[in-house]
Amino acid sequence: MKKFFIIFFFISLNSASQENLDLTYYFKNQQNFDQKIPKPKSYTLGKEEIGKSHISHDRLVRYMEILAEKSDRIEISKTGESFEGRPLILLTITSKKNHDRIEEIRTNHLNLNSSNEIQNDFKNMPAVIYQGYSIHGNEPSGSNAAMLYAYYLAANNNPAHLKTLDNVVILLDPAMNPDGLQRFANWVNTNKSEYLNPDSYDREFNENWPRGRTNHYWFDMNRDWLPVQLPESRARIKTFHKWSPNVVTDHHEMGTNSTFFFQPGIKSRVNPLTPDQNQILTAKIGEYHDKRLSEIGSLFYSEEDYDDFYYGKGSTFPDINGSIGILFEQGSSRGHLQNSVNGLVSFPFTIKNQLITSLSTLEASFEMKDVLLKYQSDFFKKSREQAYKLKDQFYLVNGKKDESKLFHFHEILNRHGIVTQILDEEKTIDNIVYETNNSLLVPMNQNKIKLVQAMFETRKSFKDSLFYDVSAWSFLHSFNLNFTTFKSKKNYKKAQLKKPEGKIVSKSDYAYVFPWHDYYAPKVLYKLLDKGMRVKVGTEPFSIRGKDFDYGSLLIHLKNQKYSISEINNIIDSISKESGVNFYGFSSSTTKGIDFGSNKFQNLTKPNIALVVGDGVNSYDAGEIWHLMDTRFEIPITKIKSSILYNYDLSKYNTIIMVNGAYNYDNKTIDKLKNWINSGGNLIGFRNTIEWLNRNNFIKLSYNKNLASTKDLKFKDIRNHFGSQLTSGAIFNAELDISHPINFGFIDESLAMFRNTNIYIKNDSIGYNNPIKYAKSPLLSGYISKQNSKSIENSRPFVSKRSGKGRVSVFTDNTNFRGFWYGTNKLLLNAIFFDSLMF
Ligand SMILES: [Zn+2]
Repeated sequence: MKKFFIIFFFISLNSASQENLDLTYYFKNQQNFDQKIPKPKSYTLGKEEIGKSHISHDRLVRYMEILAEKSDRIEISKTGESFEGRPLILLTITSKKNHDRIEEIRTNHLNLNSSNEIQNDFKNMPAVIYQGYSIHGNEPSGSNAAMLYAYYLAANNNPAHLKTLDNVVILLDPAMNPDGLQRFANWVNTNKSEYLNPDSYDREFNENWPRGRTNHYWFDMNRDWLPVQLPESRARIKTFHKWSPNVVTDHHEMGTNSTFFFQPGIKSRVNPLTPDQNQILTAKIGEYHDKRLSEIGSLFYSEEDYDDFYYGKGSTFPDINGSIGILFEQGSSRGHLQNSVNGLVSFPFTIKNQLITSLSTLEASFEMKDVLLKYQSDFFKKSREQAYKLKDQFYLVNGKKDESKLFHFHEILNRHGIVTQILDEEKTIDNIVYETNNSLLVPMNQNKIKLVQAMFETRKSFKDSLFYDVSAWSFLHSFNLNFTTFKSKKNYKKAQLKKPEGKIVSKSDYAYVFPWHDYYAPKVLYKLLDKGMRVKVGTEPFSIRGKDFDYGSLLIHLKNQKYSISEINNIIDSISKESGVNFYGFSSSTTKGIDFGSNKFQNLTKPNIALVVGDGVNSYDAGEIWHLMDTRFEIPITKIKSSILYNYDLSKYNTIIMVNGAYNYDNKTIDKLKNWINSGGNLIGFRNTIEWLNRNNFIKLSYNKNLASTKDLKFKDIRNHFGSQLTSGAIFNAELDISHPINFGFIDESLAMFRNTNIYIKNDSIGYNNPIKYAKSPLLSGYISKQNSKSIENSRPFVSKRSGKGRVSVFTDNTNFRGFWYGTNKLLLNAIFFDSLMF
């Protein structure tokens, strides 16, 4: 019977998607719908029903603005802008009565989380829910459904709905990724056939590189809820903490042959910091999705495939903040109509499922309102009890001679509303000096202690050995900070977030030196070289007039430059202020150590960089480098299309970067690259590019192989076995030879590195060829299999080899992961600027 129903349903849908699609497909009963509320259809391309084509972001925004104008239930606000300048909008939707006291509702809601009084009467307190759509731009059913959902919320005058609006405040985020959505809508609409063709080979279903999933810089924004490095996330996280919603939903799409998924996910992979009750409530809310999806005949599942481990995802971040995060995954039609193992999947069908689960979430939140409010209040009460037990304890961190890096770390804590303080006097713990101006205190006695733990903690043992995403992300490691914990009864002063301002410490008409420790030193160096100035790097440490300079300090001799001394002083003055880098002026060449006139100061060349992008290239890894160079260092990068590399004149560039990817070049292109290297080019390869370079004799390396035996492997264990051998993202301790140019700017002999590959390059027998190598038992945090942890010992994440007049350098690890691995960015910059210094 059920089978018959489903078949019938798909048939009816197919025709609906083509000709007869109208609002009754989404809302059977429109009695009591206010006719004055404009329908979404009037704002779509060609004024056709939602689902006929894909909504573009500008049209979506226009409709929401009109809706807010016409309905006293809706307030619209612009919370920020995407990289491409599109507005990020938020609709606050509730009854008129609630809108009249919305600020009071919000304040009461937040107070509930910081008040120690036990409250059981939530009569005047609506639940707050945050419903977010299509953070992956090419998973568009969410954003298209959001238009219908907003319409429904505004138009429906049924008494039950009015009562719901009295009891729930809905924060509707209809398009979390404006740039990606726009890119995708454009693709899919321009490839739509008049008579829909469901053949999955059609161009309509196969987007150009980079796909619409990501934002402007090709970031997966659904990994940025914790690091908050992107403007879209900043706006979202601000709203989140401003409201502390009870429920957060995250509407996605998955493969076309899948049905519909809602959380809870896999039990054994829930992050241990998440309370059990969170998952119980998630399952309880799941009963509402079950009921409503079953009513319309949709297939669905839960407790498989997805997990709640990494807190940087939209459905997991809420779980460490007293909310319930819920992931929805709809099998994608990608275009308008596509074949699947479950029959035809039409775009309207996918929209309908997202709409139905938006409504079931609202229904659950209304009926479970008091339970959800109590859960959140208890969550924070328990957090405070835990915090109170740690009341005199602090995390203490230090920027290791780099205030800019510490500033960016502080910025993240600030965005999450985490309390930070400053030392009143210098402190030395375990031989490490924590200076007052470059250290930060994070008291454990604070409301957000759980979030702090989630950001800082390291973990090496796990219930499960499979991960949907990374298994480690500790910010103390990603920023390469000195850190410790200590106890004190002192009341420390609140820290102010202030961007470091650099200065000319002592003015000179002879020579300036600036250290390479500062995060923004590469930006300064590039600016100076770009202006045509001669800059030298000190290949050994020295000290002058009581000031110590480490390996890699930069020297500008003011004489014989193309600018006058006063012009150079002006340039340096403005660069130092803008970058935060200090310049030290001196009047003589004599130092303790290498003198300024020594050949151990070597001239540097301005890098002209090409980054290989396009089909086959990992867009995340490429985007991270583009974003890093463009937004932080202002170093131009030419994004060269991989497929036509052969046609370009590569002599314009002295540096080419190849990230993780599949490079299927013919011999002509390989020879061209080799010739370019031999005549002086600097090729930098990341992750699996190494294997390609090795195969094609650019470099000769040997690997430590994984020895996991499959002799006794049973069929049922195949997935677990191979999954458990993946290193999906963990943090390892490396030993640095800080005299090697690849490590200039680092002051310690150890460095935390992020790796998500299983390429283990054997150490060389000559010590200086292993300037970075993994320490013994190097795992700092995250999961690695027993066999791989054998392979990583005696291996090195970096190799650099001369080839003719040029060089090939490779990294097994991602030094730029997701824009928040500030601690290892300098390794890439060193490989770019200092290649000529390496043997
Ligand atoms: Zn997604």
